[in-house]
Amino acid sequence: CSLPFKVDAVHCCHEHDAVAKSIGAINTIVRKSDGKLVGYNTDYIGAISAIEDGLGSKDAAMSPLSGRLIVVVGAGGAAKAIAYGAKKKGARVVVANRTYEKAVTLANAVGGQALRLADLENFRPEEGTILANATSLGMYPNVDGTPVPKKALRFYDVVFDAVYAPKVTRLLREAKEHGVKVVSGVEMFVRQAMGQFEHFTGGIEAPESLMREIAAQYT
Ligand code: NAP
Repeated sequence: CSLPFKVDAVHCCHEHDAVAKSIGAINTIVRKSDGKLVGYNTDYIGAISAIEDGLGSKDAAMSPLSGRLIVVVGAGGAAKAIAYGAKKKGARVVVANRTYEKAVTLANAVGGQALRLADLENFRPEEGTILANATSLGMYPNVDGTPVPKKALRFYDVVFDAVYAPKVTRLLREAKEHGVKVVSGVEMFVRQAMGQFEHFTGGIEAPESLMREIAAQYT
């Protein structure tokens, strides 16, 4: 995680891989043997694979995100990665953000709809919709923060929170109280770190169990 410089850091690299270029945000910089700095984005696959596993699927050939509506809260680096990834998997995207203009820019980039953060209280999503928080609301030490009022959470099928400390945020706790399935940011955290490990080591497989054990000590 390189909050809050994931968008600015794009300009510090000589090159980017295709995914990072499309997202416009990076979380990993590798210095190559010729001295060039190459930017990558592993948040995208970390978040999307965690959400896909949370949704479950009987059809291995098709992403469970395909055709679904996803409401992405936030418009910073993590939100860009999730919105881009969801669109790539065939989802329809709504972006809600405190600074509405940024929601409009991101929504336009993924062919989606923009909302103000306050609109989420009365937004009625269609059946099967996913809510993905990609703001820092609820992150330690401000653990009482939450992006969406509890009463509005019952309309979602799955609630994902990119925040990983604490592991169970107020958003996830309140979603669970409504019986909604939740996916913790710790899943994204471990998976994006596995991707980083592989970039940093030139392709060595990441030690997943060890990484999960270490993450569990700090979340
Ligand atoms: P960022 O680029 O700085 O974006 C922050 C976002 O949060 C912006 O949309 C901002 O809205 C919103 N925000 C911040 N404070 C707010 C508040 N008080 N009320 C409403 N909205 C607020 O940060 P980022 O890199 O995208 O990270 C966002 C979150 O995702 C962080 O909690 C980070 O820890 C988490 N994250 C987790 C992982 C993981 O592996 N689990 C990976 C990456 C990020 P404005 O545009 O209005 O300022």
